[in-house]
Amino acid sequence: MNWLRRLMYGKYGSDQLSIALLVVAVLISIVSPFLKMNWLTLISTLLIILCYVRMFSKNFGKRREENERFLRIYQPIKFKVQRLLNRQKDQKVYKYFKCPKCSKTIRIPRGKGKIAITCPMCREEFVRKS
Ligand SMILES: [Zn+2]
Repeated sequence: MNWLRRLMYGKYGSDQLSIALLVVAVLISIVSPFLKMNWLTLISTLLIILCYVRMFSKNFGKRREENERFLRIYQPIKFKVQRLLNRQKDQKVYKYFKCPKCSKTIRIPRGKGKIAITCPMCREEFVRKS
């Protein structure tokens, strides 16, 4: 692995944006034969080239800036998707209610019958079947 370290010395290397480019490129190359759109292969190849150009770049400032711009878009999306997946996973154990006053989402364990719920945000009390 010494040759690799020597090769990458002084080069920017990989970051989240490079990995995302690779993942998208691989996904495109997987689905493109089914879609019968040959130009997708070209896009996938360009993405891989772009990924390598970024990795071997010596302009650290510019690459970091690109990655930060990417993360500013990607992180909130990732966060929302994760929250959605988590909620789906515990849908069997918990029930979700919206506070009628401040519309904060409140999670209540299922199967406790009719219960009074106090909103942790605005202290509004309401009765729901859990
Ligand atoms: Zn509330």
